[in-house]
Amino acid sequence: MTRIASDLPETAHRLTRKGRELQVRVLELTDVRDGGFVLIFGEIDDDCLVRIHSRCLYGDALGSDDCDCGPELDKAMDLIQGKGSGVLVYLEQEGRGAGLIAKARGLRDGDLTGADTFTSYRSMGLPEDSRSYELAAKSLAALGLNTVRLLTNNPDKAHALRAAGIAVTPVPLLTRARSARARQYLEAKRKRRRHWIPIEAEAPWAIEASTVVEDTAILPAVIDDEPRKRRIHWLWRSRESGFTARRRAKKAGLVATSG
Ligand SMILES: [Zn+2]
Repeated sequence: MTRIASDLPETAHRLTRKGRELQVRVLELTDVRDGGFVLIFGEIDDDCLVRIHSRCLYGDALGSDDCDCGPELDKAMDLIQGKGSGVLVYLEQEGRGAGLIAKARGLRDGDLTGADTFTSYRSMGLPEDSRSYELAAKSLAALGLNTVRLLTNNPDKAHALRAAGIAVTPVPLLTRARSARARQYLEAKRKRRRHWIPIEAEAPWAIEASTVVEDTAILPAVIDDEPRKRRIHWLWRSRESGFTARRRAKKAGLVATSG
């Protein structure tokens, strides 16, 4: 059964985060497959910031270094909070929809064999990614949103919203790998799931090797209407060429090997 609860006004309250307050209202999405919650911050309108986030106990709550879930959620909330409004759709789709036990088994397989997470899932007879964003898209449409700026690296999420009639401007969240496993995971997502993640040697922190950078950076919108010619454009503060920048980053020893 799918249900979008409608007791929105009764949930309005203040939330203090990182020393600042913002208003939030909560909707519940009830579904056996992809239920969760919609958190509406401030007063939203078309072109507002939206993050659709799938539950990750390790990344979201435990601060694991082995995936990008925690930093992505944190940065998305920073941006929504900075803007004063936006929507977070938090879906109970742990382990790419397979659950925490399957996720743990996949991680164990990775420990033993060195396989990336998608290969491990397939070896267990599971889909690489069984998440659905249909209910999230419906909930956003039900809020009256026609256009959104979607904070994501995942083209599947943008496609789901467009299928629901919502115009999407994807705004990728670039996350710096904090462990070897995270580096492998990001690389696998880029190569196998076509996520909008640049190779690490071309990320802003590799280019600006001599400066202190944040763990997570935001990229401007991507052009994703031609999948085979998909390109990520981000703002380069440096005027030097990509080749020169990569050589400088390599010399500084900050270019990681990709697995
Ligand atoms: Zn995660």
